[in-house]
Amino acid sequence: MWSDPMTDTMKALAKTKPAEGLELIDAPIPTPGDEDVLIKVHKTAVCGTDIHIWNWDEWSQKNVPVPMITGHEFAGEIVAIGKDVDRRLKVGQRVSAEGHVIDLNSEAARAGHFHLDPHTRGIGVNRQGAFAEYVVAPAFNVIELPDDVPYEIGSILDPFGNAVHTAQQFDLLGEDVLVTGAGPIGMMAAAVARHAGARTVVLTDINDFRLDLAQKVAPGVRTVNTTKEDLHDVMHELGLKVGFDVALEMSGSPIAFKQCVDTLIMGGGMALLGIPSKPMETDWGAIILKALTIKGVYGREMFTTWRKMLGLLKAGLDLTPLITHQYPYDRFREGFEVMKAGQSGKVVLDWEKTA
Ligand code: ZN
Repeated sequence: MWSDPMTDTMKALAKTKPAEGLELIDAPIPTPGDEDVLIKVHKTAVCGTDIHIWNWDEWSQKNVPVPMITGHEFAGEIVAIGKDVDRRLKVGQRVSAEGHVIDLNSEAARAGHFHLDPHTRGIGVNRQGAFAEYVVAPAFNVIELPDDVPYEIGSILDPFGNAVHTAQQFDLLGEDVLVTGAGPIGMMAAAVARHAGARTVVLTDINDFRLDLAQKVAPGVRTVNTTKEDLHDVMHELGLKVGFDVALEMSGSPIAFKQCVDTLIMGGGMALLGIPSKPMETDWGAIILKALTIKGVYGREMFTTWRKMLGLLKAGLDLTPLITHQYPYDRFREGFEVMKAGQSGKVVLDWEKTA
């Protein structure tokens, strides 16, 4: 088994006590199980989930055991392979990984619906995470990175997968598509809708920094600050006679949800990825009488979404503009601050460099 003769500890960013914040700690380098690989982490990205965990909100208190090394969006290279791994993986291989670890014997998995396993455990949420110099992942979860996908892009494939999976829910070819919420996943979903051949793509938010950035991430998308512009005026400008065919709700905002219902055509489709912070009131009558189809979206399809993601990157979808900040890992505080201020796209931490 692999071992580093110099040291058996690593730097890691962990929730060490049930309170706000994360701490940079020295932790033992994890040992991969027989069906796992050990990955030397090069780059990680900060997710909204990590902000929840940092803030130690109600959801985190219920779901995240302490102590916990956080982080699930990462890319690196394989440094050790468990003895029962039968995939053709090799040491030195550049990889990312699906962060949802599933029970391959569950009914859902046996039916081929890997992403619907009710006992899914999240790397960096329910098991030790990737904000560290090393992380262990099941070989099953590993995604081999093509040579032309750099580590920082590899580190944002997890949220890109959420965007692609949401966009996969309905046929977008030639359709008018509304995306509500211009966080990183909303921006990527808008870019995917463009690549999927949508007739128009409208992306809404109330944060101008994000809407401006969206112009770079998803060129050709019509961005709308709904506090300044009326969505119906924009629809008129774009020649939409009745409404949008498909809505992708990425914000979790009840106002955005209502805007989707109001502006969809009869028989339109709505995919929901944004999670409302509390139960929300909904005009079910409007949904029923418009005969809308609503789909909740969770995670990424293993591994169709991953194949489509790498295909979209190859086809020229460029995620580079989305990464607005990169820091060496020991400057993580700055990264979390800029994320919390809503003045960033994706924030990437480099685990090979210190400040
Ligand atoms: Zn994430």
